[in-house]
Amino acid sequence: MDMTEVLRIARHGLRGEFRHDEPMSRHTSWRAGGTADRAYFPADLEDLRVFLATIPRDEPLHVVGLGSNLLVRDGGIRGTVVFTHQALKRIEITREGLLYAEAGVASPKVSRFAATHDFEGAEFLAGIPGTVGGALAMNAGCYGSETWDRVEKVLTLDRNGELMERDPGEYLIGYRHCERAPHESNLTPRVEEWFAAAWFRFARGDGQASRSRIKEFLSRRIASQPLNLPNAGSVFRNPPDDHAARLIEACGLKGRTIGGAAISAKHSNFIVNTGGASAADIEALIELAQQTVRQRFGVALEREVRVIGK
Ligand SMILES: Cc1cc2nc3c(=O)[nH]c(=O)nc-3n(C[C@H](O)[C@H](O)[C@H](O)COP(=O)(O)OP(=O)(O)OC[C@H]3O[C@@H](n4cnc5c(N)ncnc54)[C@H](O)[C@@H]3O)c2cc1C
Repeated sequence: MDMTEVLRIARHGLRGEFRHDEPMSRHTSWRAGGTADRAYFPADLEDLRVFLATIPRDEPLHVVGLGSNLLVRDGGIRGTVVFTHQALKRIEITREGLLYAEAGVASPKVSRFAATHDFEGAEFLAGIPGTVGGALAMNAGCYGSETWDRVEKVLTLDRNGELMERDPGEYLIGYRHCERAPHESNLTPRVEEWFAAAWFRFARGDGQASRSRIKEFLSRRIASQPLNLPNAGSVFRNPPDDHAARLIEACGLKGRTIGGAAISAKHSNFIVNTGGASAADIEALIELAQQTVRQRFGVALEREVRVIGK
């Protein structure tokens, strides 16, 4: 039984939207890349649970937030892409004073929502243009703060549609890194799972002061980042005690173009789409920067952006 058949049968129970050949350039901040064979836009978390419980076990699944850290190769994605952004959008303050946000809520919204409720510590999220799910998966951060510093617990959703609450102690968290910690007693393969929501603990603060900090953080970004052209933020992780941008610039690569992609003249750790860039153009620039920096400085630049597809 293929996906179309399963979805035909299950249609009466699903409230989301199913599409074929969805252009991923519409869903990535680089505005480049191929199509996804299938795409599912769930109506909400419950609908996503039904979808996951319905689809064939061997259907490859990819969960995408706002695609702001993602390069999809031009050959596209085999399988189904699930989009969380318009679906998992609940955000509230709990009775315990935690900020609960579902995985599809935009990180800047968490920042503003916290300020509105007089919590401080979420200001750094204002300029990170992804979702809560993406911020958890990447341990997104800036200006000395990281997402997992504030996480009290998370809600996960597995391939069978099962929800589970997990503590931060169940993950290995690092610089732009998050993975489930190995579990010695668990010898059976783990079921694939994603983030459905998180509870954040922020300190009580002054909303007005938080809004001023948000403004200051955003103006720092406008001054230093090429925000007028499609990009995916920092392409490479900073090596220990150094900056990827410094190394790339020192190699004379600032402004270098391949096809429609360019290493930004404003910030050398950004690659911008100057118009009509293919994913191959962007990937070729990524590889050029890695090779040149390795030859010149002996430093292996690690990608921060995730690359998927053929
Ligand atoms: C202009 C600009 C500035 C940026 N500045 C910063 C910055 O200061 N700091 C920083 O850390 N990043 C920054 N980024 C990168 C990016 O915004 C973050 O990594 C963001 O958290 C990604 O979220 P997303 O929803 O767009 O994730 P996506 O790009 O959609 O996905 C990224 C990865 O997360 C996974 N993922 C997404 N949702 C889930 C989920 N629910 N469960 C499990 N996995 C999931 C995806 O499968 C993928 O592997 C910037 C990007 C841009 C374009």
